[in-house]
Amino acid sequence: MVEYPALLLGVSFLQDAKAHHRRRLVKRGVEQLPGETRRGVYELHRKKGDYVLDDILAPNAVSVQVTEEEAAMGLFLEFSRINHDCQPNALYRFSPKTLALEVFPYRTIQPGEEITVSYTPISMPHNQRREYLRQVWGFDCSCSLCHSTDEAAISDSDHRRERVGELKQSVLQASSQQYFENALVMAQEWLEVGEREGVPPLLAEYYDIVARLSFDVGDLQDARRYALLAFDAWTKFGSVDDTDLEAAREYLRELNRLGRGVKLERQGVANMFKDAE
Ligand SMILES: [Zn+2]
Repeated sequence: MVEYPALLLGVSFLQDAKAHHRRRLVKRGVEQLPGETRRGVYELHRKKGDYVLDDILAPNAVSVQVTEEEAAMGLFLEFSRINHDCQPNALYRFSPKTLALEVFPYRTIQPGEEITVSYTPISMPHNQRREYLRQVWGFDCSCSLCHSTDEAAISDSDHRRERVGELKQSVLQASSQQYFENALVMAQEWLEVGEREGVPPLLAEYYDIVARLSFDVGDLQDARRYALLAFDAWTKFGSVDDTDLEAAREYLRELNRLGRGVKLERQGVANMFKDAE
């Protein structure tokens, strides 16, 4: 699912503008929307408060990164209707290039199954997650994890989520410090722990990282295998923003060129021995 924002509001504007000025500008923005979109905005679920557009934006707008420095709150009408689940079956990402929000499957979604995304960072622990959903989104999560009374299961889940969050950072950090072997071992753990918790890494991104690490430890065969998996995974997304796909394609191309070079070199060595016979 690909959708463009009905409204996109800079976070710096939302934070810095005086309330009456912000409300006036947002209202003017909504009034300028095409009729159907404008009606869609007013039909959204709203919080109970004192100003209607604030009450609509608070539980519906989603934070997106427009440039490296500039974040914004985007209001996407279709996306607003997708419910939360702590073990979601879909993920979303925003393309700063096209301003499109794309929802894509996180795992196989069965026909008739409701599409869900997580409104919280995946690594957030149980108590914080419930509190965040209550405060920011104004509801109690009814998923099996949140309703569980099994303290041990909740604590295990929290540990796994925390570990998943740590591992991604550790893999990238170890890689940047050139501890490639360590990074590869941690990448494997990242996948295993994430899968056990039902929140695995985004595979396209994961394969890409493992491909580059395999190359760094000198395993060209694995580097090519994972680069191909990354390319296939990005292709399957049918992305509206081809930056990741293009990067994966270019990396695979580079490895293939290099692969031929390495093969030639080996042949060279073999020929050398032949000459000596
Ligand atoms: Zn939940």
